[in-house]
Amino acid sequence: MLEVKQIEKGIVIDHIKSGNGLKIFNKLMLNKSKKPIVLLMNVESKLLGKKDIIKIENSFDIDLNLLGLLDDNITVNYIENGKLTLKKKITIPKEVKGLIKCKNPRCITNSDSYVEPLFKLLSKDTLEYKCSFCEEITKYEL
Ligand SMILES: [Zn+2]
Repeated sequence: MLEVKQIEKGIVIDHIKSGNGLKIFNKLMLNKSKKPIVLLMNVESKLLGKKDIIKIENSFDIDLNLLGLLDDNITVNYIENGKLTLKKKITIPKEVKGLIKCKNPRCITNSDSYVEPLFKLLSKDTLEYKCSFCEEITKYEL
C-alpha cells in the first residue's frame, strides 16, 4: 500500500471513481495551483473496489458544484490541525452557474459575455440541464 502522509490542513477529495481522478484534476485546474497537491489513482476501496483520491494542502477553495457534475460519489473531507472537521457528500447540483455552455448557438449566453449562463437540473440520470434564458436542454458531458 502506497503511503501518503496525512495533511495538517486542507481538503481530501475522496471516493472518486477510479479513472475520474485525472479528469477532475484537470477540470478543477489543479495543474495551475501553487499549493502542494497529491493525486492518488487506483487506491483500494471497500466501497468502490478501486478509487482515486486528491489531496490539496492549505486550501479549501474548490467548486463543489463542478465536483457534483463530474462525479456524485465523491466525499470531500475538510482537515484542520490534522483533524477531520467536516465531511461533505457531494451531490449533483440542482442549479449550475457558468459551468455549462448552452448548446443553442443563438442563446444570449453565447453571444453576450456579460450574461452568466444559469441552468436548472432536469434529470439526474442523464445530467440534462435547462437553460434559464432560452429553455434549451443541454447535457453536461465530462
Ligand atoms: Zn440558452
